[in-house]
Amino acid sequence: MSDSSDESEGTGGAEATGDDLDYCARCGATLPDEVWCPVRTEREPDGTVRIRSFCDETCLNAWLAAEE
Ligand SMILES: [Zn+2]
Repeated sequence: MSDSSDESEGTGGAEATGDDLDYCARCGATLPDEVWCPVRTEREPDGTVRIRSFCDETCLNAWLAAEE
C-alpha cells in the first residue's frame, strides 16, 4: 500500500492524436481534409477525452447505434 502511486504508463503527454481523425472511426475510410466530417467527442470514465471522426452521418449514426 502506498498513497503516492507513481506508476508511469504509456508515453505520457500524448493526448488526442490527430492521426485518428484522418480515418472514419466506423468504416476506416480515409477522410479528406477539405471536407467537413462529423465528429463525436466523448469523455471516458477515467476522464480521457476521446475524439472520433466519421466519413458521414450515416457512419456516425450506425456507430452510435452500435454503441448502445
Ligand atoms: Zn465511415
